[in-house]
Amino acid sequence: MAKGTIESKDQIKFLPFAIQRFWNKVIQRDSGECWGWKGYIDRNGVSKFAIQKMPENIKIPLAASRVSYIFNIGDIPEGLHVLHTCDNPECTNPKHLFVGTHTDNVKDMDAKGRRGTTEGYSHSDKTRQKMSESARRRYARRA
Ligand SMILES: [Zn+2]
Repeated sequence: MAKGTIESKDQIKFLPFAIQRFWNKVIQRDSGECWGWKGYIDRNGVSKFAIQKMPENIKIPLAASRVSYIFNIGDIPEGLHVLHTCDNPECTNPKHLFVGTHTDNVKDMDAKGRRGTTEGYSHSDKTRQKMSESARRRYARRA
């Protein structure tokens, strides 16, 4: 069990309450679209959600995508990260999430040309909403 993170619902205190709190912050859209986040978003554009972790009983900030994966898909193997097929760190749509290693993440970022840059994340939520999935892919390839 890794310390500063969670891998499973079993590690979450007050689980039903946490699930409810999570869904209150998700901006659900069509299943093919990116879902937004009404909660805190850090300066890298990553949506954040705090979880009361068991058995340590400490509050830890997690990427909302990681929490979405655990709630909607299942446990995350230890040491793995939740990555986005859509390249949108704010997105909480479980259909856009997959698990991989840190190396996969860096490779993925290289492939999409966004390693070490936050370019492309300055779009307002409205702009992003207007961008279709295919347009976003084209944009990602060009960048
Ligand atoms: Zn997405």
